[in-house]
Amino acid sequence: MARRKKVYEGKAKILYEGPEPGTLVQYFKDDATAFNAEKRATIDGKGVLNNRLSEYFMTGLNGIGVPTHFIRRINMREQLIRAVEIIPLEVVVRNVAAGSISKRLGIEEGTALPRPIVEFYYKDDALGDPLVSEEHIIAFGWATQQDLDDMISLALRVNDFLSGLMLGVNIKLVDFKIEIGRIWDGDFMRLIVADEISPDSCRLWDIDTGQKLDKDVFRRDLGDLADAYTEVAKRLGVMPNAPQGMTKPTLIN
Ligand code: UDP
Repeated sequence: MARRKKVYEGKAKILYEGPEPGTLVQYFKDDATAFNAEKRATIDGKGVLNNRLSEYFMTGLNGIGVPTHFIRRINMREQLIRAVEIIPLEVVVRNVAAGSISKRLGIEEGTALPRPIVEFYYKDDALGDPLVSEEHIIAFGWATQQDLDDMISLALRVNDFLSGLMLGVNIKLVDFKIEIGRIWDGDFMRLIVADEISPDSCRLWDIDTGQKLDKDVFRRDLGDLADAYTEVAKRLGVMPNAPQGMTKPTLIN
């Protein structure tokens, strides 16, 4: 079968031309990278898990009126999405201090923040995705004041939705990153959630044990990344594999 035209290849995903104008096919690879791609590995099954989990989160968001690029899953590794003009910012929401905010501001990891904090990082691998202020964003034309207001509102709605979902399965949503894109309906432009939402771009801690169930398992060599993501998928009832005990054919009397 002729392969579709590749539009873009990133660290963990590939985008192919979609079947209709305005659509793309997003393919999830098994590759994991950290520290601006200085650390790399291939983790069997990660792409399948992230495809399923991103589908689950984005479908839920679409269902509560938070617009996303997700249209439908095509197969184990691919989903059909709306093509967007990606805003060159990573939007991070934090509920608990961890990672770069802990280092930058000397706040102990695990400290609850007084309210959710939204941060913007300029997407530029060569610069290591630096933290930028709203002043930078507007002055350099990466987004307008209206875009910023809309991005903060989208990010906080995603935070409310994901935090609740995770709390229901005994997981604390410490922080996450989303990317946002523009779509055009004629002259009318709006912003929608794009890219992916998965344990690659979230920090997820078990509420009782503090066990990490996200990409920090890979970044900090804490165990098997696919096992951690499978645990998240199982708790949420998102099962990429047959449930345990159902892997062999069984006779029905
Ligand atoms: N994050 C991400 N991609 C990036 C940088 C961060 O998905 O390029 C996510 C990360 O997984 C975490 C949140 O954004 O859930 C905040 O990351 P942080 O700024 O603490 O950076 P890190 O410690 O991961 O370098």
